[in-house]
Amino acid sequence: MCVACREMFDKKDLLRIVRTPDGIVSVDESGKKSGRGAYVCSNDKCINKCAKGILGKHLACEIPPEIYEEIRTKRSAQR
Ligand SMILES: [Zn+2]
Repeated sequence: MCVACREMFDKKDLLRIVRTPDGIVSVDESGKKSGRGAYVCSNDKCINKCAKGILGKHLACEIPPEIYEEIRTKRSAQR
């Protein structure tokens, strides 16, 4: 499920953001990293919503701005 629009998507259509047990936030392309994860779909609006704080709330931590850059870069590469 996408954390921003709360719609269900196939896993391959979602990007997983993970906060590892040692507190590092990263974009998890394998989908297999351990830690607290959040999924976002490919909708630009959802990515923007994440940048406005949804993602941080979901993962209960500060999200470094470069994470959003990485999400956007990966998304545009997929199109
Ligand atoms: Zn979404």
